[in-house]
Amino acid sequence: MDIIRSLQKEEELVWINPKCNRNMAEEHGLTMADVEDAEKRLERFAPFIMKCFPETAALQGMIESPLAEIGKMKEALGVKGKLLLKQDSELSVAGSVKARGGIYEVLKHTEELAVLHGLLSEDLENEDYAKLAEGKYKEFFSQYTIQVGSTGNLGLSIGITSAAVGYRVIVHMSADAKEWKKELLRSHGVTVVEYESDYSEAVKNGRRLSDQDPKSYFVDDENSKNLFLGYAVAAKRLKGQLENRKIKVDGDHPLFVYIPCGVGGAPGGVTFGLKEIFGEYVHCFFVEPVQAPCMLLGMATGKHNDICVQDIGLTGMTHADGLAVGRPSGFVGKVMEPRLSGIFTIKDGKLYDYMRSLKETEDIFIEPSACAAFEGAAKITEYEEAKDYLERLGLTGKMGNAVHVAWATGGKLVPKEIRKVFEEMYL
Ligand SMILES: *Cc1c(COP(=O)(O)O)cnc(C)c1O
Repeated sequence: MDIIRSLQKEEELVWINPKCNRNMAEEHGLTMADVEDAEKRLERFAPFIMKCFPETAALQGMIESPLAEIGKMKEALGVKGKLLLKQDSELSVAGSVKARGGIYEVLKHTEELAVLHGLLSEDLENEDYAKLAEGKYKEFFSQYTIQVGSTGNLGLSIGITSAAVGYRVIVHMSADAKEWKKELLRSHGVTVVEYESDYSEAVKNGRRLSDQDPKSYFVDDENSKNLFLGYAVAAKRLKGQLENRKIKVDGDHPLFVYIPCGVGGAPGGVTFGLKEIFGEYVHCFFVEPVQAPCMLLGMATGKHNDICVQDIGLTGMTHADGLAVGRPSGFVGKVMEPRLSGIFTIKDGKLYDYMRSLKETEDIFIEPSACAAFEGAAKITEYEEAKDYLERLGLTGKMGNAVHVAWATGGKLVPKEIRKVFEEMYL
């Protein structure tokens, strides 16, 4: 396949998904009702979240990020239409998109345990979840363990939330994970197990160790529907934010969303929700590093998690630690088949250029992994394949009305010293 040869050359490119918008019938069984169920669960837990994390008080325990118009960055990138930044980089508790899926999954597990052991009645709507933050409940949860494999940010999200509930927590960190993330976790009492291998190995070993302990629960980034649904709630929130800004999304006002992709759960969940809400009016693209285009490889070959980037001679090593994944989630890849418009790839050096440019034009910092999102906005009207996509869907003449959302997936927790190092990188 030509696409594989281009990936092997580590070229920046766009792959347009030929199956997009065809044949939406499928087997995974997730619907918008599941997303709404997840949203309600987060609402029930809001008083608890507010008690554990006072920083969430301004939004009454809801964990949500601002949507900002970034006009100067738009000029710098030469984007047509509007450019918005979805600032998950500012999400409370975990400072990244992982606050969505990770916190949701820990809370869902907590609710299940609490009902099973009579700490919450079955009448969930009328229960007082804030009480779960009291000492005696924390003591109850301390007999249970939560484990997760992570390149860093998922570990932070699961680790910080689980520690707040009272669980013992073990995070299995791949070689890509940054030292400061491990230290931050340890400061929350989390046990960090370090691996010299990549993310897939960390996940595999974490899963194995957790399965040996009946009181341990494994958050499975490669297969978890709970994580996925937690991410999908973002779509409903974005819809509300667009409406508040009186931004239209319809046949004449296409919405383009660009999301950095690692294993696929976060961008996949958001895309699932957005396609349910906006259907053919939204065009979702992922962006992956040239050294770790695992979702692109899995979807383009149809092999999903049966192929990894090392199989075609790539290292999987990238500065974008949040995206340093060699083998995609098979579950997510299949759900994306009829929904994802395409995938861009980006070289590491450009992540820092976008990072500096955003800082300079808008005075906003986001981490390098998150900067991948800008590649989509910058290139959607550049690549021939992308132009063909727009032409085929009758969008070429409507790009002046287009709304582009770059999903800034993380940044808030990056320490000052590290930001300084990033500023000098690849100059
Ligand atoms: C995890 C992460 C992503 C991608 O999410 P996946 O679920 O791994 O695809 C993107 N950006 C950042 C900053 C992340 O931490």
